Amino acid sequence: MQVVADPAEFHRLCRGWAAAAGGLGLVPTMGALHAGHLSLVRASRGRDAATAASIFVNPLQFGPGEDFARYPRALERDCALLEREGVTAVFTPAAEAMYPADFATAVEVAGLSERLCGASRPGHFRGVATVVLKLFLLAQPARAYFGQKDAAQVAVIRRMVRDLAAPVEIVVCPIVREPDGLAMSSRNAYLDAAARRHALALYRSLSVMRDRYQAGERDPARLLAAGRAVLEAEPGVRPDYVAAVDPDSLLPVAAAGPGTLLAVAAFVGPARLIDNLLL
Ligand code: AMP
Repeated sequence: MQVVADPAEFHRLCRGWAAAAGGLGLVPTMGALHAGHLSLVRASRGRDAATAASIFVNPLQFGPGEDFARYPRALERDCALLEREGVTAVFTPAAEAMYPADFATAVEVAGLSERLCGASRPGHFRGVATVVLKLFLLAQPARAYFGQKDAAQVAVIRRMVRDLAAPVEIVVCPIVREPDGLAMSSRNAYLDAAARRHALALYRSLSVMRDRYQAGERDPARLLAAGRAVLEAEPGVRPDYVAAVDPDSLLPVAAAGPGTLLAVAAFVGPARLIDNLLL
């Protein structure tokens, strides 16, 4: 496995693989890898001739006062995990290499970028779209793998790829959970034992909404009230949003139905966590 920090060198390496039969798969990450990330790597390994992963804590997608500085970093351990998974190359650029001092360009997926997490994290999805397009241009993958865990991110990237005709297939992989239901996240590392217990309220809230839906409830206001009540009843949990939206437009649905995205975000201790479920 090659570990490459230089963008030009990463591009040269990827160009060779991209031309090969079977194509290149790209797995963009911010590192501090867990089984959710590795499921994306395995999906690519099962399909692509070569797999490249990127590990880059992208400063553009963090707002002032967010957790950029304390975001967990575990490069050596991450590389060992990726090597064991048979990854061909890992791209680990420095921020200055991705964003020179006079960097001036951004990708804005208007509208979508202001919904769900975009509403409480202004500029977040602009940072995500910008870095992901840059990674696509560097690696020129046939396929890129993303987790359903970040459902709004998936909507933003799909729209960007369609709007700009980026020649890459987006593959979305299911949410990987801990045995008790907590969605795996690098930010779970922020949770102490009590916060870890409180964090289960996110999945419970989604489960309550899904149960109500399966029992026949279609009114989003009632479903969301039930989900929000679960979060509000949990000590140490402060809900950010509870939403029932169309997964492509991220706009609220008039009635819940098959394919409706139920999404929650909440502050739990020092962490802001998200989770979702497709009806
Ligand atoms: P991150 O390192 O948090 O930026 O995540 C990198 C990729 O891994 C994104 O496409 C995420 O959606 C995906 N991912 C993160 N957590 C999970 C999970 N629990 N299950 C599946 N995919 C995940």
